Amino acid sequence: MRSPPPAPAPLAPGLADELVQWYRRHRRAWPWRADRDPYRVWVAEVLLQQTRVDQAAPYFERFVAAFPTVRALARAPIGRVLKLWQGAGYYARAHHLHAAARLLVKDHGGAVPANVGELEALPGVGPYIARAVAAIAFGRPVVALEANGLRVAARWTREERDLRTPAVRADLERAVAAVLPAGSAADFTEAVMELGETVCAPVRPDCTHCPVSFGCRAFRELEDPGSLPRRRKRAARPHLRAALVVLSDRGRWLVQRRPPSGLLPGLWEFPGGKIAAGERPDAAARRELREETGVEAGPLLFRGTVRHAYSHFTVELHVFVGAPATDATAAVGPDRRWVRPTELARLPVPKATEKVVALLDRPSDRASPGSSPRPGRTRASSRRAAPPPPGRSPRPGTGASRPRSRAPR
Ligand code: SF4
Repeated sequence: MRSPPPAPAPLAPGLADELVQWYRRHRRAWPWRADRDPYRVWVAEVLLQQTRVDQAAPYFERFVAAFPTVRALARAPIGRVLKLWQGAGYYARAHHLHAAARLLVKDHGGAVPANVGELEALPGVGPYIARAVAAIAFGRPVVALEANGLRVAARWTREERDLRTPAVRADLERAVAAVLPAGSAADFTEAVMELGETVCAPVRPDCTHCPVSFGCRAFRELEDPGSLPRRRKRAARPHLRAALVVLSDRGRWLVQRRPPSGLLPGLWEFPGGKIAAGERPDAAARRELREETGVEAGPLLFRGTVRHAYSHFTVELHVFVGAPATDATAAVGPDRRWVRPTELARLPVPKATEKVVALLDRPSDRASPGSSPRPGRTRASSRRAAPPPPGRSPRPGTGASRPRSRAPR
């Protein structure tokens, strides 16, 4: 095996043309490829940056059906935008799209700009999205390499250095820019992504069916082309324990809205937060409820545990139900309200809240198996469980933490 070069060597002549031809024959018919409307391209790129392609399609279709233009998105209340985004995760993206749409209406007559600099000035638009929109929607001759594209380019050039390093990325972009086909920037940009999503997979790339293996140094020079890029050890995700209270009163539940920035911005959830070291889950649930809302709960019933994995941590939520023991009128405001189940279903909520709702919709005798070792299930709370609202079991939101305790649900 030869020693790696300090910087990528030039790419093979004909590689880009061959790749574009292959793409035109084999591209998959994703909904965002129906046309190259700049607004749709922008929404798709925002969605695809952190959502897998196969999962993104229904979210994209729902979103552009509800908001078919920049102006329609700008007119919509943020709650509706978040509801449409629900389940796609990384909710800051929805906030940014909405804010950017309003800015475009105000400053650009509702049009998405073609210029990379103007695109990058929009909320939530970084160098990659700006270049992708410029290339795909407007055919601008710029290189846009996302994770798939960087991997592909690293294999073409046999790049052994760390792809997280800006200088290495810049080298790869320069190498790709040198072969960018004039007049086919849009197809070429999508072709690189398509190759990375279908043939040049992260592990075990299908090199025998690769249209550009003739120009791939990893294929020609390495025993395992899939060994590039070199994998760095990822730190284990931290695990959080949290407790929440579904406070129930006359068929309604107390929910609150998370702050407009940070984790899960603007989503609604049930009061709760992190369990402190040595603290019992029921005590944590009661304390969080008091600290966040000023309301004291009566006896609490442990309803079960919900687990959820986020990209950077995992969480277990200990779910309690109960009724207020003190006047809860003062707790209500713009960011906290009593809702019926049907109202809750219309509010944007985190995925973990959906899981809690599903847990509470199940018969209570099925809630405990597999849950934590009976956290907070004191004799008193078991004997004097708070009654569920009429007609159904209590539906908790995800007792997401408020900014203070930051336990995400
Ligand atoms: Fe990827 Fe293999 Fe094609 Fe190289 S030859 S680009 S490693 S699929």
